Amino acid sequence: MPTSTTLREDLNALLIVQVIDTRIDRARTAIAALDTGAKSAARFNTQKTESEALRAAAVKAQTEQKDGELRLSSIETKTAQVNKSLFGGTVTATRELENLQRELAMLARQKDDIELAVLAAMEASGETLAAAEASEQTLATLAAQYRATRAAYKERHAELTAEITAAETEKAAAVTAVPPALLARYDAIRPKRDGIGATSLDTDGVSCGACHTKLNTTLTADVRASQSLQTCEYCGRILVPPAPVP
Ligand SMILES: [Zn+2]
Repeated sequence: MPTSTTLREDLNALLIVQVIDTRIDRARTAIAALDTGAKSAARFNTQKTESEALRAAAVKAQTEQKDGELRLSSIETKTAQVNKSLFGGTVTATRELENLQRELAMLARQKDDIELAVLAAMEASGETLAAAEASEQTLATLAAQYRATRAAYKERHAELTAEITAAETEKAAAVTAVPPALLARYDAIRPKRDGIGATSLDTDGVSCGACHTKLNTTLTADVRASQSLQTCEYCGRILVPPAPVP
């Protein structure tokens, strides 16, 4: 059988519940405000796409350079063969010699063109490779940042969750000291008033401890007397009398 309690005792018990509820609310707010790493992951993914594109461009430029070098080498071989025919003494017919000279001239023009193309490809290859490497370095930094953010998130989330679990256990014990009707009234006010359903008077003894509005003297006297339940005339929260001076 529960022992009979005074309203003052009930209100003090309610205030203990309010303190625990505030702790739980703060921990929940802190969890909601934690950096989950989603932004960090998005930055990483954007960078990854860019890195992959730059790496592909670098590979393409290198391939173009190698192709050019191969073509250049084959033209050089061809030129050597034509020179051999031209000056080897096996070809003597004038028309044939003229043809060979024309071919040599054509090969020389092709060589010039390909040499220019190879130089351009080499330059592009160097540039794209440098860009790809710089981007990959940024990507590695972003990956490290993401891992650090996630680790910090998990650690803090676990701490806050443990705080909530402990506070809920404490609350389960604390509510047993509050009459159900009073608790129900408190629970009805709390969601509408930023989580504060009950408050003691301000330190000045004449204002609401939550909305800080100065209350009329009859009301504060009634709160102190604790003969009936009193609520703030402005915010509607349950008013708890100040602890008696020992
Ligand atoms: Zn108030």
